[in-house]
Amino acid sequence: MTNNRQNTLTDTIPETLTPGTLYIVAAPSGAGKSSLVNALIKRLPFVYLSISHTTRNMRPGEEEGEHYHFVDKDTFLDMVTQGDFLEHAEVFGNYYGTSQAYVEKQLAQGHDVILEIDWQGGQQIRKKIPGCRSIYILPPSKEALLERLEKRSQDSDEVINRRMKEAVSEMSHYGEFDYLIINDDFYKALDDMCAIFVAERMKIDQQSIRNQELLTNLLSS
Ligand code: 5GP
Repeated sequence: MTNNRQNTLTDTIPETLTPGTLYIVAAPSGAGKSSLVNALIKRLPFVYLSISHTTRNMRPGEEEGEHYHFVDKDTFLDMVTQGDFLEHAEVFGNYYGTSQAYVEKQLAQGHDVILEIDWQGGQQIRKKIPGCRSIYILPPSKEALLERLEKRSQDSDEVINRRMKEAVSEMSHYGEFDYLIINDDFYKALDDMCAIFVAERMKIDQQSIRNQELLTNLLSS
């Protein structure tokens, strides 16, 4: 599948505004990624979550537009042809993709954006947007991972077993990421993750733009 549209992310960002940072957050299924991301978004109001499109079936408790945009395969493939996705990949036999328009809009407004995607999507984004940051979340043990997958019990045993095998292959990509979080204690992992987002915002290049007036004032004699 090819993406026809050129990357236009920086074209949409006004020069006076500090553009947001794009974050890739990946983990094996059951590592607690979504819970951590949702808690982080509640704590840090400048962070927005990109809702992916997927062809997989809706699970009990999931809602259209909240967890995913659920579309059929033909619609998804049409969107690929139209160049609507910043990245897309096949994961566990279903297609998943990130809306380019949504990401562009949020970054242009100075918001940070999280993409909860797999390692394949991560590789595509890193190539397209070198300024992105990436975080990998690991469970404290294999046993904890299996327990979390079983507790969710939204999937059949067959799916859980397959996902355990896929998890090992997914986790082997952790070294491609900038940051590693071990989700043993939820609130410790949440603090660690928040620290990354806040530290990025405190960087000189961003702070100089945000505090232009103050800096000019402080340095004038
Ligand atoms: P689930 O179906 O359990 O919600 O997600 C399965 C896997 O697909 C997870 O690893 C998740 O991060 C990944 N995924 C979800 N949305 C996207 C996306 O837009 N792009 C890519 N590449 N992977 C995604």
